[in-house]
Amino acid sequence: MDKVLSYLTLNTRQFHELTLRVRVILSQLPLSLTVVLILVGGALFHRELFESQAFLIGVALQAVLLGLCVAVPWDRLPHATFLVIPLLDFIPIGFMRYGSGTTITGVGLLTVFPVIWLAASGLFPRAALAAGFLGALGVVWVPVFVTDAEVNSQTLTQSFLLPFIMLAVGVTIRVMTASMMAQQEVVEEKDRALQVLLEDSARRERLLETVVNSVDIGLIALDETGRPVLANRKLEQLRTLAGGSGGTAEEDLRIYQQDGETALPVARRPARRAAEGQVFSDYLLWWGDQPDQRVLSTSSRLMTNQAGTREGSVVTFNDVTELVTALNAKDEFVATVSHELRTPLTAIRGYLELLTTMPDLEPAVASGLEVVSRNSERLHKLVVDLLSTAEGTPEITPVPTDFSGLVGRRIATAQEGNSNPLVRFEDHTDPGLVALCDAPRIGQVLDNLLSNAIKYSPGGGRVTVRAAEVDGEVECSVTDQGSGMSPEELKGVFSKFFRTSGARNAAIPGVGLGLAISKAIVERHGGAITCRSVEGTGSTFTFRLPLAHVGQDQQLQAQ
Ligand code: ADP
Repeated sequence: MDKVLSYLTLNTRQFHELTLRVRVILSQLPLSLTVVLILVGGALFHRELFESQAFLIGVALQAVLLGLCVAVPWDRLPHATFLVIPLLDFIPIGFMRYGSGTTITGVGLLTVFPVIWLAASGLFPRAALAAGFLGALGVVWVPVFVTDAEVNSQTLTQSFLLPFIMLAVGVTIRVMTASMMAQQEVVEEKDRALQVLLEDSARRERLLETVVNSVDIGLIALDETGRPVLANRKLEQLRTLAGGSGGTAEEDLRIYQQDGETALPVARRPARRAAEGQVFSDYLLWWGDQPDQRVLSTSSRLMTNQAGTREGSVVTFNDVTELVTALNAKDEFVATVSHELRTPLTAIRGYLELLTTMPDLEPAVASGLEVVSRNSERLHKLVVDLLSTAEGTPEITPVPTDFSGLVGRRIATAQEGNSNPLVRFEDHTDPGLVALCDAPRIGQVLDNLLSNAIKYSPGGGRVTVRAAEVDGEVECSVTDQGSGMSPEELKGVFSKFFRTSGARNAAIPGVGLGLAISKAIVERHGGAITCRSVEGTGSTFTFRLPLAHVGQDQQLQAQ
């Protein structure tokens, strides 16, 4: 019903959606209703109209045609069959026009209805226009020929205007219909494209939802104001672990710092940091309470639109509890083993020292003891390194130190122990540098850098040490012309137990702890250590330390 009403209010889009039978009835209805109007007018003011047999035949035929519109199952017949109704409409109109004579004028104008219907159908456009014209001509001329009236130019041209007016109406309707149809085609095409897009976007959404919910990583997407727009199931599970349910605020979640007990301030929580547009990786959090506490590694990335403007962020929560537990177990193991090794090793070194100082040793025994002593020193260094790694942050006591002197002495020691005659040392240290540092610890860093420079220059070359005051800090660098490292290897050079494949293959002694320890020592001083290296050309390690401002009464530490 809505659709019929909609059609009556000239909504053509709705009209196309009706069944063909309803459309045929609706198209015939205006003519039928006008005929009813003529009948009512005739009954009230021109009763003589009903005495005309031709008029009554016309009315009856019109009623039959309306009946046909209702009765015939147009949907099941070939599509254009319904056009027979507007074509046949000219016959009752002809009868009614002839029958009404001069009682009611203008009945011939009823031909406008079938003409419009034919033209608006959009089918056989030319034939429809011709049929409309001939139909209207028939309505005008047939009575002239079939009655006794004289056929002459006057009678023939009397109502000659009607067919031409109908032709003009037909053409106008045809043009309008064609343009409407073209517009409708465009709209329908857009509709179809939109439908395809909608289906595509629904499919993508389903895919995204499936992927997001099937990964074992908690995910949350925030818009540019920091409001969550998407969260996966894993994140919900993790939130439950931290005491959160659907509507729990971020600050009420039980998230802790590294000790697993101190609450992480809200401003440092990943969602808040991401909402502020920060990008971070591997940010560790202790999530929930013991004994179910988990360690999560969180990362945040920005979402940007095509113009590059931030549209929000995505934060991931990866459960790394097992990994962290394994790393802690490894550190504990290293600490225990090195501790257990240290005691017997101290005894061995003590007795070795005693033995080597004994008089009148056989040369063979003395050289054997020398080998044992050298190797026990290596073992001792390894144990010290392992213990130092296991203890984590090194303890330091920074005091104003004669840095230039310290460097000179470490170079001299390195030169003494250097067994590669192809390696030469050059010292470009500025005199009088005073650093605020723990001399034995920084000495350890220098020893490590110098021994590496020798170890990884098997083909020899220059080892250059530079130290100077730069931007209010002491900067020291050790450059060699040795094997160097690839950019990929360079990334891991300060990691614990890292060794390049070249060092491993060449069986150069080492366990990959020296640089990790050196980095920890330098950073504990508030400084930084970096490395530049070109494979096959050499490497430069540079570290910076705070400068000490020594007063006259202060004494310099010089070890
Ligand atoms: P170690 O020397 O005992 O193996 P380090 O921590 O001192 O341990 O060094 C780690 C790794 O970095 C080395 O094994 C080596 O592969 C690489 N490396 C360190 N210094 C240099 C250098 N000067 N030139 C080339 N490679 C180096």
